[in-house]
Amino acid sequence: MGRTYRADAIVLRSIRFGEADRVLHIYTAERGRVNAIAKGVRKTTSRFGGRLEPLTRAALMLHEGRGELHTISGADIVSAHAAVRERPHTLRIALIGAEAVLKLHPEPDPQPRVFDGLARFLELLDGPVPDSGDPAADALAVGFQLKLLLLAGYLPHLTSCASCGTAGPLIGYSPTAGGAVCEGCSGGPEWFRLRPGSLETIEELIERRYLDDERYARQFVVNHAERGQGPQRIRRDLAALGLPALMIDTHLASHGDWAALARQVVTRRFGGRPPRSWPDKARRMRFLQYRGFAHDHIRSALGADATGEFEMDLETDTDTE
Ligand SMILES: [Zn+2]
Repeated sequence: MGRTYRADAIVLRSIRFGEADRVLHIYTAERGRVNAIAKGVRKTTSRFGGRLEPLTRAALMLHEGRGELHTISGADIVSAHAAVRERPHTLRIALIGAEAVLKLHPEPDPQPRVFDGLARFLELLDGPVPDSGDPAADALAVGFQLKLLLLAGYLPHLTSCASCGTAGPLIGYSPTAGGAVCEGCSGGPEWFRLRPGSLETIEELIERRYLDDERYARQFVVNHAERGQGPQRIRRDLAALGLPALMIDTHLASHGDWAALARQVVTRRFGGRPPRSWPDKARRMRFLQYRGFAHDHIRSALGADATGEFEMDLETDTDTE
């Protein structure tokens, strides 16, 4: 009995279980929080090896039996986030985020925005992150936790007095009222006075989403250019993720010399020799087009003699890899 399903998952926590197994607490796009057992994962012969470490994103095959624990029957790593794990400060920030997801989402309840938020948070941490000293106070860690609270509906009311509705000034915080309160509504058992600027700081952190998008777009362009992808393909992928066109184009334009990258990519694939025949040239053009380079970059990469003559082939979208 039971059924097998596929899930896009991020490992939040990994716990030793029995002689050779591990129980993984994962967050999936499809089902939200799931607890699953990876059998034999601690044996050196395990087909999962040490790959399902916390913070790893993987496409998992899971089997749902009668018990609460699902069983992992297959795993394709999407991203190990090695760059996050290599640096103590990014690792600590990432674990704070993972812990927040664990605490806020103990039950299987699919929330794609939580999954996307976590995936993005880890990708941002793969990039350059200044060591802020205290990971708990890092803007990325705090911003991510606030976003989680916002998505879970737990974020306190901060824009007007939570007790009487007046616009302000808001001078304190009252857990009983569920948010910030004005002078007239201040007092009471758990009330405390807010330091000037505290609310503004919290609101700024919530607004950081736009700044995060900027960093994400920049990092995405760098990572994908390093993999030999051209601007058209990167633009399409970023647009599919919902980023504004102007932001995407700004980062693509400031990235660097796409024609030089096209030249590098085609040389790596076909060697340094110039194409010797018509089909050979056409193949290189299609290859660069598939990689997402624009006509101008392709012409420039293949030399001036590549123009005109082979124009007709550029419109076919064929994978020649
Ligand atoms: Zn009030």
